[in-house]
Amino acid sequence: MYRIGIDLGGTNIAVGVVNERYELVSQASCPTGAFRPYEEMVADMCAAVEKALENAGVSISQCESIGLGSPGTCDSEAGVVVRAYNLGWFNVPVCQMLTNRFGIPARLSNDANCAALAETVAGAAVGCKNMVLITLGTGVGGGIIIDGSIYAGMRSMGAELGHTVLVLDGEDCTCGRKGCWEAYASATALIRQAKAAAAQDSASPLHGKERVSAYDVFVAADAGCKTAQSVIDRWCEYVAAGLTDLVNSLAPEMILIGGGVSRQGERILQPMRQYIEKNCFGGKEGAIPRLLAAKLGNEAGIIGAAAL
Ligand SMILES: [Zn+2]
Repeated sequence: MYRIGIDLGGTNIAVGVVNERYELVSQASCPTGAFRPYEEMVADMCAAVEKALENAGVSISQCESIGLGSPGTCDSEAGVVVRAYNLGWFNVPVCQMLTNRFGIPARLSNDANCAALAETVAGAAVGCKNMVLITLGTGVGGGIIIDGSIYAGMRSMGAELGHTVLVLDGEDCTCGRKGCWEAYASATALIRQAKAAAAQDSASPLHGKERVSAYDVFVAADAGCKTAQSVIDRWCEYVAAGLTDLVNSLAPEMILIGGGVSRQGERILQPMRQYIEKNCFGGKEGAIPRLLAAKLGNEAGIIGAAAL
């Protein structure tokens, strides 16, 4: 039997068919065309599903389920996307629509949760029962897996790990609160911190640069910029301080770091491990999880959705 996974993004809808080992057998995609009537977007999504099945040479009767990973707030029990601002979706009963069309069970979860689940079935956390995936990007996303299943809490509103406070009355966060972990530990925060520090250092290659990416900060440090390196060191502490709180709250077996900056690998993971060992409850004798980079890239969303 096969499963279908749909990764609904703000720009593209990616669909994949996976086999029993969660290997992608085929893929298809289409533009999301956000802010159209949702019926049109779901119709395009269904056409992409048909195309993926055709590419795989698989019929719908060989598929046992269809899963959807969506941005925003998703009520997994009701199968409803409650709010996805970047799609213009409010209370869209997408699971019912998919089941009506394809006649198989449909499941829904938030995209961050899907990415975490994907790592446990086909990525860096295979065989791991309790793990957390932290995605460092524009924001800080979180997915919690407990006993092999997504833990999302009441009305699937939990696991918003980026919106736990690191600094009381600290930096403004996009959520309206001040001092959230996300406002210090996201890639966006790293860029902001680097720009501010480089403004004081005319020798830095980042000095006066209008557009700076997170990657640029690492390149500058490689080129010998001490300002960039000290910003990276401090940012690693911000990330690791939040990770230590997760260790103290959940004691997961593994924590995975995802997002573009995770490609920096050991250079950021090593200082984070040291911080956790030094600061977690119980210190070196504490419940120190393995800390690794996530393994799955763009296909994580599809595979995680299929695994729902
Ligand atoms: Zn926040």
